[in-house]
Amino acid sequence: PELAAVVLSGTIDVHDFPKPGIVFKDLMPLFADGAAFKRVVDGIVEHYGPDSFDLVAGVEARGFLVAAAVGYATGAGVVPIRKAGKLPRKALSATYELEYGEATLEVHEDAFIAGQRVLVVDDVLATGGTAGAALELVERAGGTVAGFTVLMELAFLKGRERLSPRTVHALLTV
Ligand code: IMP
Repeated sequence: PELAAVVLSGTIDVHDFPKPGIVFKDLMPLFADGAAFKRVVDGIVEHYGPDSFDLVAGVEARGFLVAAAVGYATGAGVVPIRKAGKLPRKALSATYELEYGEATLEVHEDAFIAGQRVLVVDDVLATGGTAGAALELVERAGGTVAGFTVLMELAFLKGRERLSPRTVHALLTV
């Protein structure tokens, strides 16, 4: 099956999580299926081709799973983009709006060598707030964004438009 179908069949819709009225896309079955997980990681690696990035950055927490696999498969290193207060050394912060309140992501200020090409990955693109903050942090810390990939894009939340002119690579758009 094509990649989009692999992602779709590894996803369970969870109604009313984390709040009433929300349908949460749970991709954990995809990660737990070894053949499917390998297909999606290989699909990301093939999409970008050889020598197109130097490092992979993953957004806490499910983005770490994808980032580590892509980093291992390509021999690139992995950098965590973390929720506030988790990093042990001096970090840059980016705060973004949520539906109710706000959230902050952080990256170590010395995470990147100037001009290092960074592929940023996460599991799901929803409103794009998280991705926007992650991409901003990579650049503020001296990296160059080589691409942004998610396994699933929720198109009705218009994250892709919010991130424009940056481009989004999604294995599945729903
Ligand atoms: P955004 O900032 O609204 O684009 O939300 C994207 C972030 O929230 C990503 O880090 C996702 O892991 C997480 N997220 C939002 N909605 C879902 C979902 O339905 N399933 C899994 N993760 C989600």
